[in-house]
Amino acid sequence: MDNPPKVLVCDKIHKAGIERLKDAGFKVTVVEEISHDELLNVVSEYEVIMVRSRTKVGRDVIEAAKNLRVIARVGVGTDNIDVDAARERGIEVICAGDAVANATAELTIGLMLALSRNICLLNDEMKKGNWLKGKYEGVELRGKTVGIIGVGRVGRRVAELTRAFDMEVLLNDVVLIPEDFLKKVSGRFLPLSELLKASDYITLHVPLTPSTRKLLNRDNIHLIKRGAFLVNTSRGGVIDEEALYEALVTGRLRGAALDVYSVEPPVNKKLLELPNVICTPHIGAQTLEAQEKASIEVASKIIELFSYTIARS
Ligand code: NAD
Repeated sequence: MDNPPKVLVCDKIHKAGIERLKDAGFKVTVVEEISHDELLNVVSEYEVIMVRSRTKVGRDVIEAAKNLRVIARVGVGTDNIDVDAARERGIEVICAGDAVANATAELTIGLMLALSRNICLLNDEMKKGNWLKGKYEGVELRGKTVGIIGVGRVGRRVAELTRAFDMEVLLNDVVLIPEDFLKKVSGRFLPLSELLKASDYITLHVPLTPSTRKLLNRDNIHLIKRGAFLVNTSRGGVIDEEALYEALVTGRLRGAALDVYSVEPPVNKKLLELPNVICTPHIGAQTLEAQEKASIEVASKIIELFSYTIARS
């Protein structure tokens, strides 16, 4: 390729996608964990930037990016990118589609099991030398009701996996859930308030947008069935963390498992310190398989865009 397009990789991204871009003739520079100032300084040299969720691509970066054609998010969720600013400049924003859905769904099931059997707490106690057999009684997933809010790629996979535990599946989305999927998981649609009242486990799989910010809040969290468990592997901002704290302290919620936080790394320490909260550091998509698939999927999209659209413009 004469004058090969330059790609800046800003976060730790699986090498498979980087190799694919190099093989296609792109000039790839990797600066894992680039600082915001460094990005602002160098971004004008690149046609493509590849990021995960760590790098924030705000209006300032986009305005400094004189040659930028594509912002590629190696994962899903574009809340770290100012998509409106990109659109105004005609910059394409692309994501990985299905690549990380299974990994995130499996983490969700893992967290549901960990909550149900106090696995994290008992693991900590064992390591301190405490044998607490008999002190904590768990509960089983079998026969319980799971309420899934957001029935996209991750939510659907969670629904499929919960069938293995013979759970009753309730689903909520703002778009129509296809009849064949409802049949496949023996699920039924419920409005949010009804789903909150009926579920033993509530799990969130919505994107963070102005309309989902604090989707669970003081006005509806009290509707949750007393003693239910909550899992959030979507985005921290979809829950009002103060309302969640109160629900956990008052026993409205028996426990919560969080992979995502309104600010990352989280600053709301009092929430994380509760004994009935399990927390992981935003690892939903953090599997070997998902990272490899996501980097290949995004690299292929970049190659396709440059060969069919951008190169001809
Ligand atoms: P998706 O776009 O495939 O599905 C999201 C679904 O939420 C859609 O069906 C949409 O209609 C629905 N939705 C939107 N607003 C809603 C509302 N107000 N009420 C109910 N449903 C609503 O997205 P996905 O790939 O399934 O990802 C879901 C979420 O998980 C995203 O926030 C994504 O960023 C997050 N995620 C997190 C990790 C992680 O590492 N923890 C990994 C992957 C995805």
